[in-house]
Amino acid sequence: MKYKYIVLLLAASFGVISCQEKVKVEPIDDVNNDAMNSIIVYDEYMGEEPTTPEETEFYEPNVSVIQSGALGAPPSDAVVLFNGTSLDNWISSNDSTAAKWHLNKDASMTVNDKTGNIQTKQNFGDVQLHIEWKSPLPVQLEGQHRANSGVFLNGIYEVQILDQNDNPTYVNGQVGSIYKQHVPLAMASVPTGEWNIYDIIYHAPEFNTDGGKIKSGDITVIHNGVLVQDHIELKGTTPYIGWPKNPAHGKGPLLLQDHGDDSRVSFRNIWVREL
Ligand code: MG
Repeated sequence: MKYKYIVLLLAASFGVISCQEKVKVEPIDDVNNDAMNSIIVYDEYMGEEPTTPEETEFYEPNVSVIQSGALGAPPSDAVVLFNGTSLDNWISSNDSTAAKWHLNKDASMTVNDKTGNIQTKQNFGDVQLHIEWKSPLPVQLEGQHRANSGVFLNGIYEVQILDQNDNPTYVNGQVGSIYKQHVPLAMASVPTGEWNIYDIIYHAPEFNTDGGKIKSGDITVIHNGVLVQDHIELKGTTPYIGWPKNPAHGKGPLLLQDHGDDSRVSFRNIWVREL
């Protein structure tokens, strides 16, 4: 038995080695290698190159073992922001009183028109965010007025929510856009009335002590399993009118938009992992 295991192990090892040797990457034409070598240098890969596999295998830092959630359920290290039982983790953005949106019997909540945006009580910086949303049937209105909402990272950077099905609008304001800033790579909505999933990864910008931005934030958005924003550079806030702005800030709330035109957008199963 042990002999058989060793034979299998050796065979697998040779398989990996032979696969690596078969891989051919395409060369880049007209590369000035001297110039290329001057751009990025990894200190950890300087010096004498290792000659054994063990020299490039590391056992630290320890990687946390967590219980991942099935079918979008929160993993064990997530902060659950909404699971359908209450709106206790949310407040009105208008006056910091209790969130006034509708809590539904199916473990979702729905925008209560013209009561204002809601935001988390807790502030966050870099996060992985999972949020599910649904635009209502029957449809009403058109363009930006059909089930418009949005997820605002850090309270000021909007990932657009819109019922885009048979509803054209400007592409940098369509569903999955970073509003007025980055067009999505695809339109991946499910049929109106069904639940969409956004999985969002956000890294906040960094500012110096004078308030100047020294590192851009970035956002990645996966919409129903489809990459629609690929680690885009945040160029600032996402206003309806005007250029993006870059006010210095620290952590902020996650905010959900009441567009004020009877959007009736619903949300469920909202959780974050702080990065
Ligand atoms: Mg919006």
